[in-house]
Amino acid sequence: MPVASETLVEVKNLKKHFTLTKGFFSKKANVLKAVDDVSFSIKKGETFGLVGESGCGKSTTGRTLLKLYEPTSGHILFDNNPIENLKHKEMLPFRKKMQMIFQDPYASLDPRMTVADIIGDPLDVHRIAKGKERIDRINELIELVGLKSDHLNRYPHEFSGGQRQRIGIARALAVEPEFIVCDEPISALDVSIQAQVVNMLEELQEKFGLTYLFISHDLAMVRYLSHKIGVMYLGSLVEVAEANELYTNMQHPYTKALLSASLLPDPDMAEKSERIRLKGDIPSPVNPPSGCAFRTRCPYAVGACSEEKPQLKDIGNGHQVACHVVT
Ligand code: SF4
Repeated sequence: MPVASETLVEVKNLKKHFTLTKGFFSKKANVLKAVDDVSFSIKKGETFGLVGESGCGKSTTGRTLLKLYEPTSGHILFDNNPIENLKHKEMLPFRKKMQMIFQDPYASLDPRMTVADIIGDPLDVHRIAKGKERIDRINELIELVGLKSDHLNRYPHEFSGGQRQRIGIARALAVEPEFIVCDEPISALDVSIQAQVVNMLEELQEKFGLTYLFISHDLAMVRYLSHKIGVMYLGSLVEVAEANELYTNMQHPYTKALLSASLLPDPDMAEKSERIRLKGDIPSPVNPPSGCAFRTRCPYAVGACSEEKPQLKDIGNGHQVACHVVT
């Protein structure tokens, strides 16, 4: 595993806004601010866990970072190269280095293709291998993810959810990427299979020095894989810290509420952590509350919370929190 010191991926003030179709009676179109001024960096060989409820913008962040969505503004640096303005052709060398593993392994695999064709497809697209070399590489990849060569002539529907996710991982690894966005890769799987996939991702990271953005709604789950964690609420990061620092010294009321909503495998942690129950649903990002977007659900809200949006500030140890009552 490489010495984890250099930054591989960095986003600065990233925004992704979607303009919604204008309604018949409305004078102007609404804007959905899915990602609104997000900044973080990921060191080579490390995992950045991005956590939040569904609809908070974490998947859009991952997709925008890979330029599957064009950013509205902000900067994306891959190995110090700015990629935010690159056109399709200019992005090709970076596409090879930046891959994605999807949440729903079944939906992300073409049901008409055999496993061999699914894994071989990126080899063809990026012209990496042909003939025997291609076949050898496909065999190597299927074994790497714990499946057998016998599986290569089968179709996705013949596999379990966990096996399908392994096929998705083999496909992502085919081009020898440096960075993988893992978009809720275990949330559609049985609990018993989740740990196997997480362990495999960890082993692959060790073996190939991979860098991950690991997206999840479950704060307890990302603990085991992440070196650093960012907690996202309604398009913005509200707390960022090294994993250990976050779990032993979490500050933001939303982070505490998210942890309360997780199944805590560690009874000590369950006992120590302050339980905050999340009330209601996440507000619409089209019409977010004024000031702090979490104020409509926060038990600690004070007057200033409705007036001014709190900015991330460093409280020591590189631990950043965006909350008016945390000093
Ligand atoms: Fe709660 Fe106010 Fe802090 Fe927002 S800024 S999390 S509303 S206390």
